[in-house]
Parts: sequence; structure tokens; C-alpha cells
Amino acid sequence: MKGTDNNNRLPAEKIVDKIRIVMVETTHPGNIGAAARAMKTMGHKRLYLVKPKVFPSAEVTARAAGADDILANAVVCNSLQEAVKDCVLVVATSARQRSIPWQNHGPRECAGRIIDAAESGQVALVFGRESSGLDNDELEFCNSVVQIPTNPQFSSLNVASAIQILCYEIMQAANETIEDASREENKIPLASTEQMRLFYEHLEQCMTEIGFYDPGKPRRLMRRLKRLFNRVQLDQNEINILRGFFVAAQDAARKNKK
Ligand code: SAH
Repeated sequence: MKGTDNNNRLPAEKIVDKIRIVMVETTHPGNIGAAARAMKTMGHKRLYLVKPKVFPSAEVTARAAGADDILANAVVCNSLQEAVKDCVLVVATSARQRSIPWQNHGPRECAGRIIDAAESGQVALVFGRESSGLDNDELEFCNSVVQIPTNPQFSSLNVASAIQILCYEIMQAANETIEDASREENKIPLASTEQMRLFYEHLEQCMTEIGFYDPGKPRRLMRRLKRLFNRVQLDQNEINILRGFFVAAQDAARKNKK
């Protein structure tokens, strides 16, 4: 992710809490329910509805299939401006290329930008009407437009499906970010060249003592083993484990000889 220190990242749920899904003038109540369901499966919670035609309704609830908490907490607004006024980043979604060239991103890149921005404030992802999408006045509130790549001859997804895909990408990006951060934190330093040199010396000694290797007829065994261990990049713990193992093997061989 660009420009941010991974170690100071918010946990994934906190990131998602700062992201709202905004649906503009949705006509079919079933789409609102399906959107709530799509959001909940991807860990999202915050739904904003700009002038929904029908809300609440039994059909919305039925299609939400248990994502009732999202519907209960949905915020109904009178305009897109009202829905996004406190946001530091507003991303529009569109099924088609716009005649006015807005900054355009694919879903994955867009998810990364959203996660980055959520570190510093509220973020909105805006979805248009089933019939006509978002109009140009609405696009003026948006910093960029994301288009999900599709069959060029059939590019318009159902709005809840578009929400599903983008919420999935955001969840993936948030989880990757957290994993990167914890991997960095838990990282055990890799072995240095000098530690590897001593490790190879010990390996050779051990293999000789247990009768697996004859320094008089080396062939290519050491080179092959070096290639193997160099490929895996041992860390300091792993080196210690292996060297402990060599010592135990050497002791056993010495006892055997007595
Ligand atoms: N006929 C409309 C289609 C709207 S589909 C139009 O031409 O704009 C309803 C909404 O679903 C869109 O406004 C957008 O928010 C979302 N959507 C549909 N297909 C999409 C795609 N390929 N990429 C991104 N969003 C899409």
C-alpha cells in the first residue's frame, strides 16, 4: 500500500467502520436488501441511502437474508452531498466510461486507495441508480471513478453485485495490510552470511562424523546443499534448531563409536 507505515495500521474492522456504501435513488427494494447482505458477508456495516424509492419494506428485509442490523442502522439522506459531506475520499462507481475523463481506477487499486484514506478519515463508495447510474453533477462530489472490468458488450452489473465485488476487494486489501503489518512485527532476523558460513562448516563436519559425507570424495553434495539452504533463506531460529540437531547427531555417532 502506498505511502503509509504498515506498523501504525488500524485493525481491519476499524478500517471498514470508516467506509460507507452509498446507494443513490435505488428503485428496487430487493436491491437494497441484496446490497445489505453483500456488505455483511464482506464485513461492511455502514449503508447510506439517498432518496430510496421504497425503504423500509418487507422485500428489503427478505432480500437482506439476516443482514437486518445493516438495514436498521442505514442512514437515509436527501442528497448525495448530504451523504458524503464529512468524507475525505469519495469514490464513484460506473458501468461505463464517462465522456468527461474522471480519474479512473480498477477495483483492486481503488480498494488500496480506500484503505489508505480510511486511515485519516471517512470514505464513501457511491453506487448509482439501476436505470441511469450517477449523473454528472453527482460525479462532481467524487474524487475518482471505479469501473469493474466486464464483458465490453455487457458491462452493467446489478448494483448489489457491484457492491459485492467492491466490498470483497476492500476486505482483501484490509486483511492483506494487517497481515503485512503483523508479519513485519513478528519477523525473526534472517541469518547473516557469516552465520551461514559457520552453519555450512558445522553441516559438513556433522555429515562427515555420521558417515554420510566423505571430504576426500566431495562430488557436488555441499554445493547442492548450499543451494537448497540459500533458497529457503534460514532465519536465526531455524539455524539454531538445525545446529542443535547436528550436535545431537554428532553425539550419537560418537557414542556409537565407543
Ligand atoms: N444503465 C446504468 C447502469 C447502472 S447499474 C448506467 O449506464 O450507468 C447500477 C449501478 O451499479 C451503477 O451506477 C454502478 O454504481 C454499479 N455498477 C454496475 N456495473 C458496474 C461496473 N461494471 N463497474 C462499477 N460499477 C458498476
